Amino acid sequence: MGLKVNEIFHSIQGESSYAGRRCVFIRLTGCNLRCSYCDTKYAYKGGKELAIEEIVGQVASHQCPLVEVTGGEPLIQEETPHLIHRLLDDGYEVLMETNGSQDISQADDRCVKIVDIKCPSSGEFEQNDMENLDRLIDHDEVKFVIGDRNDFSVAKEILDARTPDFCKKHPVHFSPVFGQIEPKILADWILKDRLNVRLQLQLHKVVWPSDQRGV
Ligand code: SF4
Repeated sequence: MGLKVNEIFHSIQGESSYAGRRCVFIRLTGCNLRCSYCDTKYAYKGGKELAIEEIVGQVASHQCPLVEVTGGEPLIQEETPHLIHRLLDDGYEVLMETNGSQDISQADDRCVKIVDIKCPSSGEFEQNDMENLDRLIDHDEVKFVIGDRNDFSVAKEILDARTPDFCKKHPVHFSPVFGQIEPKILADWILKDRLNVRLQLQLHKVVWPSDQRGV
């Protein structure tokens, strides 16, 4: 038994509150969604079946304490929780980026979950498992990818329905769809509506061309 791995690479973390740190990314193959703005379509298929031991070996070669398990959607592979558990037991700080359609409690509590809430312009809003918002642990983070004003309003409504300290307990990121909405516009909306969220720009796309992912 193993996992279908699209790529393993060493780069600078471009998103979340870990942005700017060196990170090894384990990108797993396959996704159950088809977001309108998806920039990782190449991960829908292909890749190689690797045993957990082989993945851990490749990660170790980069000598980096931070690892992110991503996709595609990592939680559609049965072995993903075992991989995360193993990386944590080996002493890594582990992040998991998930599209929010799967039950995040499958992953070890020690892992920092970065959970997408899909907004309407993604075309996948109905796939959100909103119960994930009640499954978050204090260190977990939430991300809304915003493509237009309606996405912003929907994200705001979702946050308004949570307790007032939700954005203090969990970093909440608002990320503009790359090339679709100017970051300045989203910044203005956040300021005007006094939201306690973080404007997130994809740092890796500033550092490297969009088709390059690190070294
Ligand atoms: S969840 Fe992520 S990988 Fe899947 S289609 Fe959406 S953007 Fe692409």
